[in-house]
Amino acid sequence: MKSARECYQKLKTQMTDRGFVFGDAVKTEKCTVLYPSRWQDFLCGRDNAFLIGEAAGFISASSLEGISYALDSADMLSRILNERHNDPMQAYRKATRGLRLKLIGKIIKARLLTSPGVRQCVMKSKIAHIPSR
Ligand SMILES: Cc1cc2nc3c(=O)[nH]c(=O)nc-3n(C[C@H](O)[C@H](O)[C@H](O)COP(=O)(O)OP(=O)(O)OC[C@H]3O[C@@H](n4cnc5c(N)ncnc54)[C@H](O)[C@@H]3O)c2cc1C
Repeated sequence: MKSARECYQKLKTQMTDRGFVFGDAVKTEKCTVLYPSRWQDFLCGRDNAFLIGEAAGFISASSLEGISYALDSADMLSRILNERHNDPMQAYRKATRGLRLKLIGKIIKARLLTSPGVRQCVMKSKIAHIPSR
């Protein structure tokens, strides 16, 4: 968090040394992203107030992508509300279980990828690596 910019520049320098060609930076932006780190971080809502997308914690902890989860959870909730369930909150929780399990997998993936030891093993294994010129 504290030296992200310096680390990023170091990575760019290392990649330039390995043959990657970067142009001049035109614009730089950054932001802090809040993402789930445990099962309890997924909140579907309460008292007939429903949460979808990022508000419900539906964002990938490994890639920080959330558009498809926002669209999927909105679609699920829309169907449930239109089907007029007796307990729509229970039905929504049930419907999003698969999505939440998928996102738990992303949390595990993120933990592995941000662990230096595991990361080094993955890099050394050259799985899906981009060959340098
Ligand atoms: C820089 C950046 C890059 C990203 N890139 C990708 C990507 O490449 N692929 C991907 O899948 N995801 C990406 N994401 C994540 C993705 O944008 C979000 O996960 C997704 O937009 C979440 O959708 P949402 O509808 O849940 O929330 P949002 O898109 O955040 O929509 C919430 C809306 O509610 C409004 N709002 C908030 N409070 C109130 C209020 N009190 N009253 C009324 N309105 C309110 C907000 O203004 C906003 O318009 C990126 C995020 C960032 C920040």
